Amino acid sequence: MLRVAVIGSGPSGVYTAQALVQQSVVPDVRVHVLDRLPCPYGLVRYGVAPDHEKIKSLQNNLRTVLEDERIDFIGNVEVGAHGLGPGRLLELYHAVVYCLGAAKDRRLGVPGEELPGSHSATDFVSWYSAHPDSAREAFVLGARSAVVIGVGNVAVDVARILARGAEELRPTDVPHAALDALALSRVREVHMVGRRGPSQAKFTTKELRELSSLPSADVAVDAADLALDPAYTDPSGAALAALPAVNRRNLDVVRGWAAQPPRGRERRIRLRFFLRPVELLERDGRVAAVRFERTAPDGAGGVRGTGRYEEIEAQLVLRAVGYRGVPLAGLPFDADRGTVPHAGGRVLRDGAPSPGEYVAGWIKRGPTGVIGTNRPCAKETVASLLDDAAELALRPVAADPLAALRESGHRPVPWPGWLAIEAAETALGQTLGRRSVKIPDWPGLLGAAGGRPHP
Ligand code: NAP
Repeated sequence: MLRVAVIGSGPSGVYTAQALVQQSVVPDVRVHVLDRLPCPYGLVRYGVAPDHEKIKSLQNNLRTVLEDERIDFIGNVEVGAHGLGPGRLLELYHAVVYCLGAAKDRRLGVPGEELPGSHSATDFVSWYSAHPDSAREAFVLGARSAVVIGVGNVAVDVARILARGAEELRPTDVPHAALDALALSRVREVHMVGRRGPSQAKFTTKELRELSSLPSADVAVDAADLALDPAYTDPSGAALAALPAVNRRNLDVVRGWAAQPPRGRERRIRLRFFLRPVELLERDGRVAAVRFERTAPDGAGGVRGTGRYEEIEAQLVLRAVGYRGVPLAGLPFDADRGTVPHAGGRVLRDGAPSPGEYVAGWIKRGPTGVIGTNRPCAKETVASLLDDAAELALRPVAADPLAALRESGHRPVPWPGWLAIEAAETALGQTLGRRSVKIPDWPGLLGAAGGRPHP
């Protein structure tokens, strides 16, 4: 029997577990999917926006995988705690696949970034996703104008949540405290700002287009910003033709919005381009505005500063400039890329494959792509692991890794514990007159996993 630990139960971890059991090279594989949280599904539960119910429903597919009899979900086990480092894991399992994701946000590196009222978009996402480590801050209180820095899909998600009325989110599983705060929100202007042009924005067209379908928000684009984009203005059309299809589609959408008159809705999302943040400005101890330098295309896909500046008022700033991987003690790490060095998914130590250690997902390739991108990524890693399986199976490992985890101080939450959390969230929703509502704190989650009702 080949015993494999998969560290992380987000999409990359679950697709790795699936690829491990859906193969015929090694007939007898047992997989433990370990997660730091008592809940599975990673960013599908704690990252996908609550109003994206279709993507959220991917949880049903991931659940089917985790219910396979050869796979065990084991929550509330933090790798790195109670002596459970990479070395110890190799004593418990023949192979370990790290699917750790990219847990932190990238930094802007400008003065004022740490002012009260300035947050990473990941913190805001964690808040409305009920992540148990999320700050209890009510984010939107007192803000009228918000600036979202970055023009990727995370920026679109947070801008959309800010621009939706609380009533639009009530049918979702958004936690009750966040819903109450959003109901009191006075945010009327949401500025989403890119340092390059609309033809270089990172969002996907479906996500972008959705902004104009919000019932209580207008979308506005400054024609002057568009006019700076060579793909928009080049009379020969060559610059436009050279763009990938997604960027051409995005430009079409943005051009349509620039031509459209406002419809007088309660809130407005304003897309801005060619503005590079240089400082967050303070008033009364909190962020009050963002100072941007106007940029211009440098002819090589980047931008250069122009020495002209513009300020946008903001009592709330969300920095949506990408995620970055976090090193795990004892595992090699490329700090520049925020990933673990690998060859075909095999972890490299000093340039050579380390027997029994693998990576998949964002910690392998960086924080890019959509959820489905993790499937081929996981398959590549599992193909490498299966090539090595004959040698891996010879390594001596503990007979009962779960018992070993308990002995060293971990308090694992197995699959029935997670099902109890799900049931408690449904019950909580019923008491609040809503559908299932997420439990937002550690005591509540662990209590529910142990069968105690949520207070
Ligand atoms: P992203 O796609 O990499 O976008 C990051 C944005 O931040 C870019 O506009 C980037 O501009 C900008 N940026 C980076 N550093 C900056 C700086 N110092 N100053 C100003 N702007 C800066 O990252 P993301 O939005 O976090 O998304 C991560 C991944 O998750 C993506 O693959 C995304 O598609 C995926 N995702 C998908 C969905 C969905 O499918 N619904 C939802 C959320 C996330 P430059 O291009 O100029 O660097």
